[in-house]
Amino acid sequence: MTQATLTKETARFIEKLRNIGIVAHIDAGKTTTTERILFYSGRIHEIGDIDEGDTEMDWMAQERERGITITSAATLTEWRDHRINIIDTPGHVDFTAEVERSLRVLDGVVAVFSGVDMVESQTEKVWRQADKYAIPRIAFINKLDRPGAQFDRTVEMMEERLATTPLPLQIPTGVGEELTGMIDLLHMKLLTWDPSTKGLEYETSEVPEEHRERAEQMRTKLIESLAEVDDEIMEKYLGDEAIAIDEIKSAIRRATLANKGVPVLGGTALKNVGVQPIVDAIVDYLPSPLDLPPIKGLSTDQPKSDEDGAPQEIFRQPSPEDPLTALAFKVVTDEYAGRLVYVRVYSGRLEEGSYVYNASTGKRERVGRIFQMHADKREQVGFLETGSIGALVGPKEVTTGDTLCDPEHPILLEKIDFPEPVIFAAVEPKSDAEEERLNQALGKLAQEDPTFRVNVDEDTNQTIIAGMGELHLDIIFDRLQREFKTQATMGSPQVAYKEALMEPSDVEEKFVKQTGGRGQFAHVYVNFEPTERGSEFEFANEIRGGVIPREYIPSVEAGIREAMGSGPLAGYPVVDLKATLYDGSSHPVDSSENAFKTAGARALRKAFERARAELLEPVMEGEIVTPTEYIGDIVGDLHTRRAEVKAFDIHGNTQIISVSIPLAETFGYATILRSLTQGRATYQFKFSHYDVVPSHIKEAVLEGKA
Ligand code: GDP
Repeated sequence: MTQATLTKETARFIEKLRNIGIVAHIDAGKTTTTERILFYSGRIHEIGDIDEGDTEMDWMAQERERGITITSAATLTEWRDHRINIIDTPGHVDFTAEVERSLRVLDGVVAVFSGVDMVESQTEKVWRQADKYAIPRIAFINKLDRPGAQFDRTVEMMEERLATTPLPLQIPTGVGEELTGMIDLLHMKLLTWDPSTKGLEYETSEVPEEHRERAEQMRTKLIESLAEVDDEIMEKYLGDEAIAIDEIKSAIRRATLANKGVPVLGGTALKNVGVQPIVDAIVDYLPSPLDLPPIKGLSTDQPKSDEDGAPQEIFRQPSPEDPLTALAFKVVTDEYAGRLVYVRVYSGRLEEGSYVYNASTGKRERVGRIFQMHADKREQVGFLETGSIGALVGPKEVTTGDTLCDPEHPILLEKIDFPEPVIFAAVEPKSDAEEERLNQALGKLAQEDPTFRVNVDEDTNQTIIAGMGELHLDIIFDRLQREFKTQATMGSPQVAYKEALMEPSDVEEKFVKQTGGRGQFAHVYVNFEPTERGSEFEFANEIRGGVIPREYIPSVEAGIREAMGSGPLAGYPVVDLKATLYDGSSHPVDSSENAFKTAGARALRKAFERARAELLEPVMEGEIVTPTEYIGDIVGDLHTRRAEVKAFDIHGNTQIISVSIPLAETFGYATILRSLTQGRATYQFKFSHYDVVPSHIKEAVLEGKA
């Protein structure tokens, strides 16, 4: 085979690849839809029933029990000669970091909406995240078998709340009992599914008389919407020319890829109506890796290029001919498979047995076996082509977010941003013999999940685990017992408070020590000032004329950072601070890096004594979904928890209460809500921001800590 034909074939292979994620508000039907897609595309041979906790994607035991999907595994399936990687995105908000990181590696999204609950706030959030990465989307309006479902209204809400141009390609014949099929507006045909084959087969027939007029109207509307975003269609439309179906399809694809429109389909996954057209739309309208813009990274091998020392930006084309660039986006440890590192290849080819450079750690790694994954089954493949997703076995030192690349052409991709944990708890082994097992298990879990941390409290020698919410820690603890078979106990969860200075403070610190021999000397003037909540620590160097030699300046910063580890109120970390080093002096013999580090730390401690400080606490935000009758009890209870009710959304007999609530007030909320509503309400809270603790609560917290 010549190089040219090889390349052509490879290009054809990549063109037929789709990396997609399915996102939805919890309960909208993501799991059911995903499973139907796998069933119709022949990947699985039976459809499980989600309500009995038995689906292919939710393969971890406790996910089954909770009916939610936590890990983002990738599953490969085939459709019309195309390969579709379905990257599993979690639905629960405690795990938004997971959503965020899956969005980094997928190229297109299928957003599932419930036609009953329509556009909900969680979907809005994920939608905005997808906007941020400019990911093309198609929408599926599910649950049209439910009386009260509203297809048109959902489409309208997409336009209003998601600020997008929905392009309905179908309309239902009706909802509830009246849903007999979907009308395909492109071909002007009625599609009906055969229940006796579990919807595996479907038929195409003429649009029934009573739906014809509306279908015509909707088709015209579709063409008009397309004309607004596509010049080719606009020209033909204005010229009153006939537009062929293929031309319409190309225009839909262009609009989707450019994020100018979102194709909308409908049906009911549970009753097996409308799923195959989703897979057709994935193939027809969502991008292949070749459609993507080049990926941006930083060069790691060139000397720092510009004045302020920023490394150079470099780009890689989504092409097998560019050097290898891949991102490790997920690490999973399971008792059978061992350690699997999921990677996405952006350019070049990742081959078994080759050496790659981990640009995040600076280490070379040998690539062991490579697998393509299907839920918990796997198939060994010799390599991963540009655009592909697969799992590597072996590399111990690769963690989530690492860039793997060609050693000759190093590149560092943008890090995945993970929030800091807001809650922690002590765990203790039941016996000394258990200790090592526990530590190993915790180490593995921390490698899998970058929002989960483990460390040892130096004062008490206790092992502390930290995460993003109570449910997060509960699930970790559950896995420790079930999967890793460790015997341990977990203490009650604690809030990860922080401290902040509330006013600026200008400090002079002269650190001088003369004890025979070589002394120590460091002299600094530092201005400390509070910054916006949630901002990164900022260190500004405004030393002029070399009054402090350059090599000591990083030491001042290091000293300040060290002192920030323990605040003035109760020793919680200090945040939202800017330090400006603007003057000082040094001694030709006695000054040293250490002396300046000490001076930096002491300067901040002086500021602690002078400036007023406050305690900060994590505040969660989220929603409670409840039957209307419990609203009074829930809101009454929320008022005792310092919660702020932000909005009420009514969907028929269901109310959605949007709240913001301090993390400290959410402990045990699952139990409380269950007893208030006889288990009929659900809630999801997610970390939002840190805020000042009111003074009466502050007293209690500080007393408890003392
Ligand atoms: P997820 O939380 O988005 O993954 O949603 P699931 O797929 O787990 O579905 C949530 C609930 O809605 C389950 O009880 C499903 O059986 C049900 N469900 C899913 N799709 C449909 C549908 O099309 N019609 C109806 N009536 N129920 C559905």
